[in-house]
Amino acid sequence: MSTESGAGVPRHGTGEWQALDHRHYLHPFTDHHDLGQRGVRVIECADGVYIYDSEGHRILDGMSGLWCVNLGYGRQDLVDAAAAQMRELPYYNSFFQTAHPPAIELSRVLGEVAPEGFDKVFYTGSGSEANDTVIKMVRRYWDLVEQPQRRVFISRRNAYHGSTVAAATLGGMAPMHDQLGPMVNFIEHIDQPYHFGLGAGMDPDEFGLRQARLLAEKIEETGPENVAAFIAEPVQGAGGVIIPPDSYWPEIQRICREFDVLLVADEVICGFGRLGEWFGSQRLGIEPDLMPFAKGVTSGYLPLGGVLVGQRVGAVLGQQGGEFAHGFTYSGHPAACAVALANIRALRDEGVIERVRDDVGPWFSERFATLADHPLVGQARSIGLVGAIELVRDKDSLARFDKDLGVGGRCRDACFAQGLVMRAVGDSMIVAPPLVMTREQVGELVDKAWRSLDITASSLGVTGGA
Ligand SMILES: *Cc1c(COP(=O)(O)O)cnc(C)c1O
Repeated sequence: MSTESGAGVPRHGTGEWQALDHRHYLHPFTDHHDLGQRGVRVIECADGVYIYDSEGHRILDGMSGLWCVNLGYGRQDLVDAAAAQMRELPYYNSFFQTAHPPAIELSRVLGEVAPEGFDKVFYTGSGSEANDTVIKMVRRYWDLVEQPQRRVFISRRNAYHGSTVAAATLGGMAPMHDQLGPMVNFIEHIDQPYHFGLGAGMDPDEFGLRQARLLAEKIEETGPENVAAFIAEPVQGAGGVIIPPDSYWPEIQRICREFDVLLVADEVICGFGRLGEWFGSQRLGIEPDLMPFAKGVTSGYLPLGGVLVGQRVGAVLGQQGGEFAHGFTYSGHPAACAVALANIRALRDEGVIERVRDDVGPWFSERFATLADHPLVGQARSIGLVGAIELVRDKDSLARFDKDLGVGGRCRDACFAQGLVMRAVGDSMIVAPPLVMTREQVGELVDKAWRSLDITASSLGVTGGA
């Protein structure tokens, strides 16, 4: 066996990788003391919907990497697009009155797949940068239309909009706010439409209306003339796959129109097919003004993000005099744009998104719902190819386990041991598998999840598994 991989990376055994990792590599969102004790899991290769670790385990990737590998692993067309573009033009910028074919063509194609009116795009390298861009772009818009006092952004608690200073402030993740303190001072938060967690005993639609009306209250409190935009994920991802009641979005839309507040749909997870439409906004009937995106646009093969700009803002920014003083070295990176083009072509030509809508999505929904019969599960919910189950101590009262038991973490570890990646958000278990998954693989996911729930239950001394 060669002592290097095809990419020129040495081949080590698991122990050596773990030691090197612990010595040198600071990971995102990680407790390094804990990781050092456990030893990192090293993923060496992947194909289709499976990843393979350095111990040779084959693991069904129920999270599409990190919500991004929509087309699955091992797509030669995406690899070829990147390689060919790198040979032709590996890099050039768009700052100084220049551009290159892949960025221009991708901008045109995004306009084709996005909802009516979204025919302009600003590129970034990530979703966080996309949301930072949203803040500056919205400010610029209100300046240009001579309402410069509209500077306040309203977001939601437990939202995730990224990890840069502005995006993390825009997000509503308590641990991030607690660690970093108040960072950007023009951002307000309202509560989320999390029916299972916050709406106990309430009719879901009544709860949805109540949570939406928190926006109107916050706008009134801030002074409508000061509010620039409301931002939200169509379905909250990292917060625990929170699917709002049907009444929620129409009321949010109505409130934004009433107060002339811009509506930003963070499509970083929901975009590019996750909910069975090109964008989550289409599935949920939202008509936003801006749509930040990233993740699925390249199926994660290369980093790319951006902001799709609707008619209202696009008409002003596209004709503005004076410069929008914002941009990144890698805005519209040619290789990333070429991969995005190949990705969108495949999503289109192979009917992947229609399949999520009409076939594998409904199948997933039906099978995933059976997990609600498990003694540990208080609710199983899904939409498109994203779902969550809520782990509870008591199925009738829906009471949670004591936090110190770390039940979600136990279940996640049990899933790994069963050959399934499922993520834990507290005691909510979440999945977002590749969109190319077969019905049979859906069955495998649900079976492995059930077995992992059994193992979790017996580790807690809970009996009565069906
Ligand atoms: C992941 C995510 C982001 C941040 O994207 P990065 O590429 O990690 O910066 C923003 N918004 C949502 C909804 C996300 O899920």
